[in-house]
Amino acid sequence: MDDCIFCKIRKGEIPSEKVYEDDKMMIIKDIDPKAKNHFLCIPKNHFKLLSQMTEDDEIQLKHCLKTIPKLEKELGLEGGYRLVINQGDNAGQSVFHLHIHILSGQKMGWTPA
Ligand code: 5GP
Ligand code: ZN
Repeated sequence: MDDCIFCKIRKGEIPSEKVYEDDKMMIIKDIDPKAKNHFLCIPKNHFKLLSQMTEDDEIQLKHCLKTIPKLEKELGLEGGYRLVINQGDNAGQSVFHLHIHILSGQKMGWTPA
């Protein structure tokens, strides 16, 4: 998508602090961290919602979920971490390219923001 921030980051048109990349996904530091350690895992395919995934999108998302645990040491996630996928308005989704928040580096409560 031409006007998507994460597609622009993927193409290198917007700078980011990229900590991991392969053919299906990338992991960048969130520009406005909501935890001491906050990354975004972004599948390379552009799709907005889990309900809209194509088969190829599913392959990419599964790859994300299998790869994150392999990077625990590299990303400093050893103490535990939380994965969040915001879906739509009530969740406050602000970038409409599906992504997984990786939150860590501190104890986390359970209060919706
Ligand atoms: P959402 O609200 O859609 O679940 O999450 C979007 C996230 O993207 C937010 O945490 C926001 O801080 C982050 N974000 C928005 N624009 C940029 C950007 O240009 N670079 C980076 N690294 N993160 C961004
Ligand atoms: Zn996109």
